[in-house]
Amino acid sequence: MPGSLASVHVLSAEEVIAALETDFVCGLAQEEAEARLQKEGPNRLSPAPQKPLWLRLLQQFDNPLLITLLLVGAIKLSIGDPQDALVIISVTCINAVIGTVQEGKAESAIAALAESVRTDVVVLRDRSLQRLDSELLVPGDLVQLEAGSKVPADLRLLTARSLATDESALTGESLPVQKGTEPLNPAVPLAERSCMAYAGSFVIAGQGTGVVVTTGDATEVGQISASLNRPVNLSTPLTRKLSGFSRTLLRLIVLLAALTFAVGLARGRDLAEMFDGAVALAVGAIPEELPAIITIILAIGVHRMAKRQAIIRKLPAVETLGSTTVICSDKTGTLTQNRMTVQHVYAAGVLQALHELWPADQPAGGLNVALHETLLAGLLCNDARASGACGWVGDPTETALLEAAQRVGISHGSAHDDYPRRDVIPFESEQQYMATLHGQQRILLKGSVEAVLQRCSDELDQHGEHRELNASAIQEAVSAMAGQGERVLAFAIGQGGPRQEQLEHHHLNGDLTFLGLQGMQDPPRPEAIQAVAACRSAGIRVKLITGDHLETAVAIARLMGIGASSEIKAIGGTALDPLSPDALAEVVESVDVFARITPAQKLHLVEALQANGEVVAMTGDGVNDAPALKQADIGIAMGRSGTEVARQAADMLLIDDNFATIEAAVEEGRGVYLNLRKTLAFVLPVNGGASMTILMGALLGTALPVSALQVLWLNMICSLTMSIALAFEPHNPALMSQPPRRPEEPLLSPGLIRRVLLVSLFNWSVIFGLFFWGEQQFGDLPLARTMAVQGLVLAHLVYLWKISHWRSLWPIPWSKVRTSPAVPLGVMATLALQWLFSQTAWMNAFFGTRPLNASLLLVCALPMLFMIPVCRLAEGLDPTDLIHPSSRPA
Ligand code: ADP
Ligand code: MG
Repeated sequence: MPGSLASVHVLSAEEVIAALETDFVCGLAQEEAEARLQKEGPNRLSPAPQKPLWLRLLQQFDNPLLITLLLVGAIKLSIGDPQDALVIISVTCINAVIGTVQEGKAESAIAALAESVRTDVVVLRDRSLQRLDSELLVPGDLVQLEAGSKVPADLRLLTARSLATDESALTGESLPVQKGTEPLNPAVPLAERSCMAYAGSFVIAGQGTGVVVTTGDATEVGQISASLNRPVNLSTPLTRKLSGFSRTLLRLIVLLAALTFAVGLARGRDLAEMFDGAVALAVGAIPEELPAIITIILAIGVHRMAKRQAIIRKLPAVETLGSTTVICSDKTGTLTQNRMTVQHVYAAGVLQALHELWPADQPAGGLNVALHETLLAGLLCNDARASGACGWVGDPTETALLEAAQRVGISHGSAHDDYPRRDVIPFESEQQYMATLHGQQRILLKGSVEAVLQRCSDELDQHGEHRELNASAIQEAVSAMAGQGERVLAFAIGQGGPRQEQLEHHHLNGDLTFLGLQGMQDPPRPEAIQAVAACRSAGIRVKLITGDHLETAVAIARLMGIGASSEIKAIGGTALDPLSPDALAEVVESVDVFARITPAQKLHLVEALQANGEVVAMTGDGVNDAPALKQADIGIAMGRSGTEVARQAADMLLIDDNFATIEAAVEEGRGVYLNLRKTLAFVLPVNGGASMTILMGALLGTALPVSALQVLWLNMICSLTMSIALAFEPHNPALMSQPPRRPEEPLLSPGLIRRVLLVSLFNWSVIFGLFFWGEQQFGDLPLARTMAVQGLVLAHLVYLWKISHWRSLWPIPWSKVRTSPAVPLGVMATLALQWLFSQTAWMNAFFGTRPLNASLLLVCALPMLFMIPVCRLAEGLDPTDLIHPSSRPA
């Protein structure tokens, strides 16, 4: 095994190859690679050490509500009330612990999801190219780099063609760095070592190959790995809105507490008693459990999306997804299967179906010359490769061309032996072509019809003679194929200079000879057709944005059900550029299909849609799609086919590259928002009712209907056993038959506020009513308080049931209890805890409660009946009924 290779950049490529005991042509032997993997370990970075637990715990107190609670506890302690102080402080701490545990879980879940998306590399081993998980790379492996890929390890470059990388993660340099292969002077600093490519950087242009020098933690980035393992950020627009809300709430609470205190004193009551009142109000009004519950809801959302093949990379996407109004989707691979097969070929003026004309056993010599050259060009001007027995490696468009050539009996091996490749201009979406230079001075061009035709001056006939280019016949053939949704590629041939070794764009000027066309079919994904329909009924418009031909795109859009059924509005990229901003704003709304679009135009389309107030989800896979993905509200990259650069820029990854997954994620996003709303509608009235009770008690001069400790108990019960159940609620099927939520809509909509006020008022009357009655009947303060707490919790169980998806109290569909047991379990746990609360001696002693007999329990259950009309009234107050959306046409 190689020893230290600290300064490989001074060695020549041959020296490095020798030092690493590998081989240019064969690569490593599989056995040797396995042995090295044993020795060096997998090619991955060790995770950054987590923040210590105490620090994470402490960070939970970065919340004014919890700090206030702690302060209250401290004051209680200082005025000699250790029992209350202890409980207040421990409740606060319990909340902090729950928060820490939940956030830790959410963070590691998101990080694990991100990890689960593997990076593949193309490696030469045992003479053959293979696709490999980048974690299996070892020093000495020869890997290929292409635009968009992530550099998988520290590499010494062996070949580089217009290769440029983005090393900003490593050096902070944001401009692309040009790469070459020449050895350098030892003193050259890391950032300028042009013959090296470092792990953690991205290839943004060109192609190259390199030999792996170091892997895993031994790489340059491994040495400074802290900078790459960015912590997962759990803050979202919603959590920020909520912390704003809790600051406002806190001010209100402090004000009310002061009021309670002052009013009590003015009425000549005891100072200590009034201080108790103010404390009870503060602890009662503070929804200290809310942050933890919201984290849980978001984490459940992320988890559910992952189950449906959508990996969230940035947490805010979970919320934004729910308000998506437009989805701009790719065609190839997302709406279609990306399983290309050549159906038609056109050459020398004749359009033919591939399968009819050449049985595989007939020798290729039977083809006319133009046709033979077209298929041969498809084979040679191609970066895909046969890979062992398992098929092909490469872009499906290109593997389809290999298959077509194979089918008519053109031998892969002998074609490459006859015309060895000397150079290549790789395919890029912007230029829409790829070109290769072969032995015998053959230049081959393949690409879109537009890109190829403009570079041709004549065409080949069936005998191999040059003749005048018949552009209109070619266009006719293109329309015939594209009209059926086929992707059409054109081929041309040219003559290189006598000693030419390099191919440049300017060699592809206007005097090439047109060879022919191949039209390939890519069947639509059936589930994507359904998803497009689902989006339509959810008020989300789907737009097809593609680099492909206009007619192909329109045909596919028709198959998918995109756009109005009668007429699909389509526009080509060239027509887009001259538009004024106003005209563009109009066009982006009304047009369904955008064809021959460049990545730069994608960015303009996103911006124009956003300027119209749309919330845009946009897919992208190429290097140059990154700006559009970043600009979109939801940037979506492909887990299978996309480039690493696109993934890095995206908010969400589709594991299966499938449009239907976007629709599923939107549905989950809407579900998350609904569950958040339910939680607020549930939690806030408890706090509201409790604080009203205490305030009114002070104003009316009665004893406090619930003690500070009991209020804490109430809050704990509500958060631990009841509102958490709401986080697990299944979706309402009507969610996807509603128009999208307006993004500017406040979380606490007027309807929700009215609902919270109404239920708070009801809660207050329950507490007050039962307390008053108990006090009058028995003159027993602890007994009256116990009844008040029991009555409130029981009534709230009804409320929980009514706002959950169970909704109706009778009949209960028992079969559903198995599939979504959260709310029934919550109800049972609550009942059990409440029983302990009043019926056990130790709880009695601690909370100052009394056991209730059966008839008193019955009295406590009475408010449950009244809760039913109150719930109905609350639904009436919330005009659009956001808790239980019903099907409304979008
Ligand atoms: P999309 O992914 O939206 O379907 P692309 O940007 O990949 O579109 O392709 C745009 C056009 O470039 C295609 O219509 C085709 O004519 C041409 N093209 C696609 N792939 C290749 C390739 N590998 N080599 C040459 N030309 C290609
Ligand atoms: Mg493509």
